[in-house]
Amino acid sequence: ILTISGLHKSFGELEVLKGIDLTMQQGDVVSLIGSSGSGKTTLLRCVNLLEDFEKGSIELAGQKIGYREDGAGQRRRLPEREVARQRSMTGMAFQQFNLFPHMTAIRNVMLGLIKTKNMPKDEAREVAQKWLERVGMAARSDHYPGQLSGGQQQRVAIARAIAMNPQIMLFDEVTSALDPELVAEVLAVVRDLAVEGMTMLLVTHEMRFARDVSTKVVFMHQGRIHEEGTPDEIFGAPKTERLQGFLANSE
Ligand code: ATP
Repeated sequence: ILTISGLHKSFGELEVLKGIDLTMQQGDVVSLIGSSGSGKTTLLRCVNLLEDFEKGSIELAGQKIGYREDGAGQRRRLPEREVARQRSMTGMAFQQFNLFPHMTAIRNVMLGLIKTKNMPKDEAREVAQKWLERVGMAARSDHYPGQLSGGQQQRVAIARAIAMNPQIMLFDEVTSALDPELVAEVLAVVRDLAVEGMTMLLVTHEMRFARDVSTKVVFMHQGRIHEEGTPDEIFGAPKTERLQGFLANSE
């Protein structure tokens, strides 16, 4: 469902992604691990077209995203409307939840359904309520973000992204901003979704979680995939010294 080939991305002089190749099938749960600055977040943001990239391609659900070649073989960025449509094939949850503070939980989830999917309000409310239920937030659907804990806000943010019915969910360190006692409830929601077969690509520092839920784990180092494999391979029998060192330091 996702094929990333030869992806390069720089910020000015700094080359952050130096040729990434990654393939995912429907239902795969791929965890990106690696030290700070290795390019994990940037990779996710490229898949979501929040970042431009200079070289390589990303194909999602059979479509090359972000760019096309014109008649002269020149690579051109697609018009913003097209980019927006492709972006909506992905759902993203961030470290910061980014809920609208002046809207209740259910309104936050309904907004995209009404504005982007043109869903009638009643139907949007039903869909939103269903997803809030799925993340254990049905009883608080009329609360404002300020009245919810960080873990609850994050669960609403996840419901909001999934309600849009994306082909793939991208999770960027969704528990990093949370107090330790709130981490488990959010990971439980993500784990349930994984078990149900949602395709997801996630950046996480929670190694036990990555080991638990992933079909594949990808260790990044300095803009490259340094090692990848099943959770048992990566955590049980890491091959490279660098990965061994990383795992020893992240216990
Ligand atoms: P972390 O675990 O800390 O989030 P990461 O592996 O996700 O790290 P990225 O956030 O992808 O790493 O960052 C990779 C590199 O790109 C870093 O050196 C970072 O400083 C740089 N970088 C990221 N975004 C920008 C930007 N908008 N402008 C310039 N440099 C950036």
